Amino acid sequence: MKLICLLQGRVLKEAFRALFTGPYTSPFPAKPSEAYPRYRGKPKYDEEECVGCGGCAEVCPAKDITVTDDKENKKRTITLYYDKCIQCGQCEANCITEKGIKLSNEYDHLVYFDRSLAKTQIEKELVLCEVCGDVIGTADHIRWVTEKLGPLAYSNPTLILSALRDAKVMEEVPPRDQELETGRHDVMRMLCAKCRRKVQLTA
Ligand code: SF4
Ligand code: SF4
Repeated sequence: MKLICLLQGRVLKEAFRALFTGPYTSPFPAKPSEAYPRYRGKPKYDEEECVGCGGCAEVCPAKDITVTDDKENKKRTITLYYDKCIQCGQCEANCITEKGIKLSNEYDHLVYFDRSLAKTQIEKELVLCEVCGDVIGTADHIRWVTEKLGPLAYSNPTLILSALRDAKVMEEVPPRDQELETGRHDVMRMLCAKCRRKVQLTA
């Protein structure tokens, strides 16, 4: 009985104090609540730093990143669905450029009435093989590999061509005659790994 009276006294005291000091609970969402600096929130792509390699889609354990290649329009679309994302940070940790995607500390922008809007997309130009038409990669990814390799890039004609075209020091090569067999004349063409191997063996 004595204990109950004691507890009631404490509760009343707290309630009386709360009348003047306000509630203990956070006033969110009326007042924004700052997340901790290292909080793993909404992932965001950086258009400039992402090269569109698709590595983040490979490592995402929730499989919430898709890579869609539109060969006709030479466009790659990478889509990240926020409604499936578990904010684990694997995409950021494994991004090849280390800056292509970052987890922000935003947490209150992940509520949607329409789930189809819960996504972010990034688009990149695709480069196709001039012989078989298969995807070589994105233009930005090829540039990134060329820069990373430095002088070693000169061992691969596809990389040299990409660098020369970017530097605008060569004229556009006429389109390849698709009736021709693969051969020596294809050495200085943008080729996928499979066709490059074939050309190197027959050249
Ligand atoms: S550069 Fe990074 S963020 Fe962009 S697709 Fe590759 S792994 Fe993903
Ligand atoms: S944070 Fe994790 S779950 Fe979310 S997109 Fe990145 S890898 Fe996938």
